Amino acid sequence: MHGFMGRRLRLDMTRLTYEIEDLPSNYYQKWIGGRGMNSEVVYNETRQGMDPYDPANPLCFVCGALGGTFAPLSGRVTVSTRSPMTCSIMGTDIHGHGDTNMGGSFGPMMKYAGYDQIIVKGRADRPTWVVINDDKVEFRSAHGLWGMEVKKATLKIMKELDDPDVRVSIIGPAGEKMVRFACIMNSFSASGGRTGMGAVMGAKNLKAIAVKGSKPVTIAQPEEFIKAAWALREKVHVSPSAIRRRHEGTMDLFDAGNDIGINAHKNCSTGYMKDIEKIFGGVQWADEFLFRRKACWSCPVGCGRYTYIKEGKWAGFHCGGPEMESVCNLGPRIDSTDVAGINVLCGQVNELGMDSISAGAALSWTMEAFEKGYITEKDTGGIRLEWGDIETSMKVLDMIARREGYGDLLAEGNIRVAEKLGVGMDIVPHCRGLEHISVDPRIALGFSLGYAMSTRGSDHLKNYSCLEFPGCARSRAYQIDEIFDADGAKKFWDNFPSQMYEIDTKPELCTWSEKNKCVSDLVGCCCQAIGSWGGAGDWKEAYTPMFRYATGLDLSDEEIFLGAERVINIERAHWCRDGSARQDDTHIDRYFDEGVADGPYKGMKLDRDEWAWAQTEYYKFHGWDKDGFITSQKATELGIENIIPDMKVGKKIYNAWLDKHGLRAKPKAKPKARAKAKTKAKAKPKTKKRTRR
Ligand code: SF4
Repeated sequence: MHGFMGRRLRLDMTRLTYEIEDLPSNYYQKWIGGRGMNSEVVYNETRQGMDPYDPANPLCFVCGALGGTFAPLSGRVTVSTRSPMTCSIMGTDIHGHGDTNMGGSFGPMMKYAGYDQIIVKGRADRPTWVVINDDKVEFRSAHGLWGMEVKKATLKIMKELDDPDVRVSIIGPAGEKMVRFACIMNSFSASGGRTGMGAVMGAKNLKAIAVKGSKPVTIAQPEEFIKAAWALREKVHVSPSAIRRRHEGTMDLFDAGNDIGINAHKNCSTGYMKDIEKIFGGVQWADEFLFRRKACWSCPVGCGRYTYIKEGKWAGFHCGGPEMESVCNLGPRIDSTDVAGINVLCGQVNELGMDSISAGAALSWTMEAFEKGYITEKDTGGIRLEWGDIETSMKVLDMIARREGYGDLLAEGNIRVAEKLGVGMDIVPHCRGLEHISVDPRIALGFSLGYAMSTRGSDHLKNYSCLEFPGCARSRAYQIDEIFDADGAKKFWDNFPSQMYEIDTKPELCTWSEKNKCVSDLVGCCCQAIGSWGGAGDWKEAYTPMFRYATGLDLSDEEIFLGAERVINIERAHWCRDGSARQDDTHIDRYFDEGVADGPYKGMKLDRDEWAWAQTEYYKFHGWDKDGFITSQKATELGIENIIPDMKVGKKIYNAWLDKHGLRAKPKAKPKARAKAKTKAKAKPKTKKRTRR
């Protein structure tokens, strides 16, 4: 086998044993590798109603076919499991598919040890860590590591193994305490942040996996592969967006978001923080804090960084990062412009091992709940969190990670906090229990639909419909023809650039974008090359030729795209099996009832009729039924017939829930006055209509 290692490693934490499983090439043909292999295991080795903390829940690490090769941006590893963080409107104890994608270099090292995938099951009776060195696997006591923060514990492992080249995936105190949004870290500061992968690792009493390997990744057609990889590497290296990102890190996106007024501010109540661009952004962050740049495996972009605070209250603090989402969620989201303080918060969550987005959401929810009078110090054990309060935020983050006092409650994620306190559900911006990232869902409607339809709860990286942003659409106009038929493309350009906040073209754009993004997760590469920002072009141009040269698998572009669709469907099926479908594919009432508070899109909000129309259209593009369940026909077409009985079980749960709440109704027809309703927003940006050149 080429490209792939052809094996996976299964770790049994209960018995402290392991098994190496050989995989046939038709398995790779079907699941393409990467995220596909994880999603297959997570669906087929869990069951409807399963508690994510059940020892049988598999925690899977996977590296794609290009991982460990010379292909650019190929250091990504996907971690997947049934998520403890996400839930359904039907109940916080209903769970579904969860995953996260990490950079660093843990994934390639897994392959050098001889494994495309590591699956962890069971629960050790005491804290344990695992050392993998090629075919040798050892389980060691984590007694001396338990309670340690990420950097310190990683260094201790390297010292114990006397090997600076070992790669370590590890949890911090938050994972040990099963904070529902605990993350997994590797290479010190590469974070697998979302959906609580670290909590499941903690539930297995697994502190860390250290891996070292010496096996080669062989290539089916080396000459062609090197030529293609080198050409793409050159293209990425000199692309203007990569140059900018190398200099500014992902903070360049902060400026782009703020320029068009979509960055979340104050618990995502508005998409615009007045004058913030004068205070901080990519250039300022680089000038003030950048100590050193870093890159994930084989990446010519190098958007990663180490930062160092030279002066002031936090002088001497240094950390890996921060990246843009962390800054947004621990900065404007909590109404702070204290750049040094925000940098410290970002470093702190990495050390504690928590998702910076959900951590920022926990703080900002508490701040808004105080402001609205929903909670008092009685609910928080005497702690008062006001907007912009960095020092109390630090204290609260530490309490969350260690599950102390009010932190123990926040460790459950905002939905469960609001449920337990009986207040503030209206101010939890989320889909399926996972809090939103920093783009306001009332403005960029492709992202908005993507959040709601994402197979892991609210998230832009499952969908990544960047083509809705005018700059991306301009620079990649050729893709519009690929996505839409002639009518659709005309509609897109007729509305340009206001198509960003018009829903008409979004169901089709989202359906294509999520497959486009999925291909990068399958081959194991960073979406920054395949997305609109990295400048490397689309998936066909970027990765499928290299995939074929590396693996020798005879898969056409269309078959790889179909593979992406299969993966999205099995992840969706995981939710449908538990009865979660149309009722969860939406946003909280706030975004339908309350307009954006400030900025160029002041007054903009979602429209319920439009949304119902968009849901139905999106299901049609997928070939699902009107409630968003995967049909038997679609399952058969994709070769996942085993999900058909599960869809019937899920549909029964769904219908019973609708009946209980008197909600059985036909989806509404596409409203005629959609565009008018949307243009009610007072201060739409002054942009000229333009047609395609
Ligand atoms: S672009 Fe950034 S996140 Fe992506 S692989 Fe390169 S360094 Fe890592």
